[in-house]
Amino acid sequence: MINQIAAGEVIERPASVVKELVENALDAGAHKVEIVTAGGGLNLIRVTDNGSGIPEKELALAVARHCTSKLSDDIHDIRSLGFRGEALPSIGSVARLSIRSRTASGDSAAEIGIDGGRVSAVKPAAANRGTTVEVRDLFFATPARLKFMKGERAESSATGDVVKRIAIAFPAVRFTLAGSDRSTLELPATDDTAEGRLARVAQVMGKDFPDNAIAIDAMRDGVHLAGHVSIPSYTRANALQQYAYVNGRPVRDKLIAGAIRGAFADVLPRDRHAVTVLFLSLDPSTVDVNVHPAKADVRFRDPGLVRGLIVGAIREALAGAGIRAATTGAAGMMAAFRPGAASYAHPGPANGHRSYGASYHAPGSNGFDPLRSAQRPLDVGEPRPPRNGFAENEQAAFDTGPLASADARAGMAEPAETLLGMVLGAARAQVHENYIVAQTRDSLVIVDQHAAHERLVYEALKNALHARAVPSQMLLLPEIVDLPEEDADRLAMHSEMLAKFGLGLERFGPGAVAVRETPSMLGETNVQQLVRDLADEIADNDTVETLKERLDKIAATMACHGSVRSGRLLKAEEMNALLRQMEATPGSGTCNHGRPTYIELKLADIERLFGRR
Ligand code: ADP
Ligand code: MG
Repeated sequence: MINQIAAGEVIERPASVVKELVENALDAGAHKVEIVTAGGGLNLIRVTDNGSGIPEKELALAVARHCTSKLSDDIHDIRSLGFRGEALPSIGSVARLSIRSRTASGDSAAEIGIDGGRVSAVKPAAANRGTTVEVRDLFFATPARLKFMKGERAESSATGDVVKRIAIAFPAVRFTLAGSDRSTLELPATDDTAEGRLARVAQVMGKDFPDNAIAIDAMRDGVHLAGHVSIPSYTRANALQQYAYVNGRPVRDKLIAGAIRGAFADVLPRDRHAVTVLFLSLDPSTVDVNVHPAKADVRFRDPGLVRGLIVGAIREALAGAGIRAATTGAAGMMAAFRPGAASYAHPGPANGHRSYGASYHAPGSNGFDPLRSAQRPLDVGEPRPPRNGFAENEQAAFDTGPLASADARAGMAEPAETLLGMVLGAARAQVHENYIVAQTRDSLVIVDQHAAHERLVYEALKNALHARAVPSQMLLLPEIVDLPEEDADRLAMHSEMLAKFGLGLERFGPGAVAVRETPSMLGETNVQQLVRDLADEIADNDTVETLKERLDKIAATMACHGSVRSGRLLKAEEMNALLRQMEATPGSGTCNHGRPTYIELKLADIERLFGRR
């Protein structure tokens, strides 16, 4: 019964059995691990390895509770995946378990079984070197647990995830997983070099991850961080594709997840998640893995150090690598322009995964790098009524500028040669009240003015914040914002920090704040909404975020409120000024939500569309 109680924590579902058995195989130094399951693992799980094997006289010990060969006398220095001596007896108490094993020196194999907790005698058997553990009828002895199993498909997929997760940390080991539904996972061995590890990651996560990833390699105070993170245009709707390892052990750790979120906060919307594979290596005595029987939780002795290392390394890598074009988008948009787009098999990588956002190419180390194409829907299929078209009289707004703006007309001066040479070129028109169309020598550039401006405001706010206080303007009358008391408390508590941003507010009775000043950069702004959003932001992040991140986040929230909304007509000088400002601002190739702020169509591509090439 004690073993069954332990099993309740250690063996949650078939995938947990697979995890424990694979960990044992890896601890035994195997370089081949073969997994077979039937009935989602509830009927059968068999794990065969070519590791060290278990000596015949230790077989009975291996299935005895708390017996482990992996601890000497120091629980603080754990270098193996297992150390609790709990898995085998736990599995044996809720299923029918048999272990057949042979060591390198043993001249024959031996076998032991446990059936719902009853241990059988050790018998001779025939086997090659290594160990085969077979688990049948999982949870037959604990029918209540059996009732909770999800269906064969769901259990199989959980098992697949477990194997993939662990395989990423052991690239030199060959893994195979075969289920009853013909789906087989085969991960040939690579090696334990940086390339080998990336190759294993590609086996698990798909070939397009390495193409869209940036390498991370950083060291701080004896903690080493290595791995890869996706570029901001390659994201997922959940955080399941974030793999983290501490000294080779797969972990699910809030601190690491939070650090990844923090590192990407600048470039990703809140509902998108980066794809990451991160390996932390540190002195085993500075991390506690004995937190939960499933061994997926860890506690760091210096959490701040680990968090700072992760956030710093990822941010640095993102900035250093620039923001590259996602390979998945390149040909997509051009294809979308073509008649019969759906049937057009475009060249370039096979598009296995969904592409969201766009592919883009933005500032690299050498400054502003134009993006080549994007998959952003451009509404080309169904022309809208020409409400905002070139011919509209709203366009008169452009005519005030010295530069030719909406010069679809003949006889307008050509834009200055110098402007054409700029990365984002010379602004030529504004269409649909939000898109600036510009021209370079060999391309057409379309800028999303709202997204671009939002980013510029954000960068300016951040800079101002780190330099000095943000200039503010007094409101004629203070604006009273009614709020739940806790929100008012939170805002009041952070009023000093908010004042640094140019937002002057103070407590106004129990459930309200009075706003006296707003950042001048925001211009006229919806104070009520801004204050409520800030209250939410502080409530969400106060306890976990460091001060600087919090400030940047608030800057992002403010920027969103203060940017030129789409719909504002810009004069030619204003448009050109925006383009020049973008060129001068690192990071302005994407808006705060990771979407591109501009796209560029090469003339050559356009000509190809018209069959001129
Ligand atoms: P732990 O892994 O925490 O030590 P387990 O119950 O998983 O506890 O395993 C008990 C012991 O059985 C291990 O310490 C190890 O000595 C032995 N063992 C289990 N599986 C294998 C294997 N595949 N190869 C070699 N030894 C094994
Ligand atoms: Mg174990």
